[in-house]
Amino acid sequence: MGFCCGAGMVGSVGSVRHQKTLVHNVPIMFCPVCDRIEVHPAIEGEYEILVEYAQGDKAPEVDFTDFVSVDNTGELFENCTMTDEAASFADVLKQQIDVALDLLVVAKDLHDEEWREALMHRLRRLSERLENYKRRKQVAERSA
Ligand SMILES: [Zn+2]
Repeated sequence: MGFCCGAGMVGSVGSVRHQKTLVHNVPIMFCPVCDRIEVHPAIEGEYEILVEYAQGDKAPEVDFTDFVSVDNTGELFENCTMTDEAASFADVLKQQIDVALDLLVVAKDLHDEEWREALMHRLRRLSERLENYKRRKQVAERSA
């Protein structure tokens, strides 16, 4: 599993903008704390070739799955939390909150102020995200 700013990166499939080209359906990893997005390392090579091709072609949008068959998505995300199902995104966030809470206890025991601060920040971001997510979901359910 990849890590960013101490939090576990979450695996997903999403759209990535590369200069003027928007690439859809790219396996990515993102950090739920600082929103950093990374193209999944396993398909980085293919991604770069596709982007180069799309830019040469001046295509504003391309679909990653049209050029590269990603039939091993399961394998790709074997080692990290997957958010394929929207319903499980809340669970992923809750999991990360639990981990951060556990670590917070350790940080307190060690009197490691810097770490404690970082964890508090991470917890705030994660719970904000969870709240926003729940709110969005409620709205979606109401309008459905
Ligand atoms: Zn991060």
